[in-house]
Amino acid sequence: MMTSETFKEEVMMLASKVGVKPKQIHIQPMKRKWASCSRKGRLTFDKQLLNEPYDVRIKVILHELLHLKYPNHGKMFTLLMDTYLKKTITM
Ligand SMILES: [Zn+2]
Repeated sequence: MMTSETFKEEVMMLASKVGVKPKQIHIQPMKRKWASCSRKGRLTFDKQLLNEPYDVRIKVILHELLHLKYPNHGKMFTLLMDTYLKKTITM
């Protein structure tokens, strides 16, 4: 399992690529989902995510980071999600 610190660094690195600044990053056990974000910019990730491979983590992290820009799953959200995934996976 990666450490919380390494995971947070990964989140912050992706955040700077996306151009958003999460106010807080929390890691805790979550029952129903991988992650959530609050309107105030607080991101919460399931502790279990730290055991997942890179491509799974990246999808969850990007999803939440993009919500800091777009609250819904509209066209721009989907488009940027695809774009960033292509970029980060071939990074
Ligand atoms: Zn979402």
